[in-house]
Amino acid sequence: SEDRVYNFAAGPATLPEDVLLRAQSELYNWRGCGMSVMEMSHRGKEFSSIIQKAESDLRALLEIPDDYAVLFLQGGATTQFAAVPLNLCSPDDPVDYIVTGSWGDKAFKEAQKYCKPNVIWSGKSEKYTKIPSFDDLQQNSDAKYLHICANETIHGVEFKDYPIPKNKGGILIADMSSNFCSKPVDVSKFGIIYAGAQKNVGPSGVTIVIIRKDLLGNAQGITPVMLDYKTHADNSSLYNTPPCYGIYMCGLVFEDLLAQGGLKEVEKKNQKKAEILYQAIDGSDGFFRCPVEKSVRSLMNVPFTLAKPELEAEFIKEAAKESMVQLKGHRSVGGMRASIYNAMPLSGVEKLVAFMKDFQARHA
Ligand code: PMP
Repeated sequence: SEDRVYNFAAGPATLPEDVLLRAQSELYNWRGCGMSVMEMSHRGKEFSSIIQKAESDLRALLEIPDDYAVLFLQGGATTQFAAVPLNLCSPDDPVDYIVTGSWGDKAFKEAQKYCKPNVIWSGKSEKYTKIPSFDDLQQNSDAKYLHICANETIHGVEFKDYPIPKNKGGILIADMSSNFCSKPVDVSKFGIIYAGAQKNVGPSGVTIVIIRKDLLGNAQGITPVMLDYKTHADNSSLYNTPPCYGIYMCGLVFEDLLAQGGLKEVEKKNQKKAEILYQAIDGSDGFFRCPVEKSVRSLMNVPFTLAKPELEAEFIKEAAKESMVQLKGHRSVGGMRASIYNAMPLSGVEKLVAFMKDFQARHA
């Protein structure tokens, strides 16, 4: 609507307008129960229905098999960087990490405290613009798992398919924080999928973990009770007070995604948005540039630079004047970044592309 901006932030990020309006209409008195979701007991029947519906809608969206638990946790994906090795490894166990950007690197560094991680491929020397060829990977068969970051939010590099884990357990783990629910995923290929909610599916404060149930119950003795997945699986994410309002918001987003026809339809929309933006960059005769190898460009986070970097501040300022905000690239890489998650409408990307063409015409 008129009074809202197009928010290209990487997360927290834009949410669907319909969801916000629905939350607004339900805020003061949730479905006639006389209180808001923020005021409810997490053990009452109202909140039970909210979290159960959120879980079953997420299961429907991602077609999550029954032998997987769905957990609604706190602490962000950053907490999962520690929880994953704590739950799956002994301190001396080797594990493999593919590092395609800064988030994968952070996950690897945190794992060094709890096991013996090994980086089997890093894109750092090529400034994180690539995904490795899976055939060339030197996986360790004794590794407890292989870890990837499915979409690197800062560098805009996305796995389009997934390596087959060669470790004995066949366990692949993915940080899907920035492309969660942006397209269908075959959950059965993964041991664990984890994601912070604040990009595609809700507000910050909720972290979703999807874990194959046979991986529960082997946490290291030092694991805090809150980081042991079994604690949360055994208690349906209600061991302690969960982030109730955030889970409610995620539930509204899941309903919205189902109403759009599910993740196949959502993926088509995301492909269309990404296509017109990358076309605008590639078709600008070098005025705009995206450094990422074409075949692995993210549908969610589109980093780009200007051939004349001195114009970048002006670009960001003028865009903001036209209600397109948060286009500045991450402080570690500079340039610009347009995050175009599920809730960014096509009209937002079209407006950005029209602005880019106009900006080029005025400054080329
Ligand atoms: N992984 C990825 C891919 C991310 O994009 C982010 C957040 N930008 C994180 C992990 C860290 O998430 P949080 O801030 O929720 O801990």
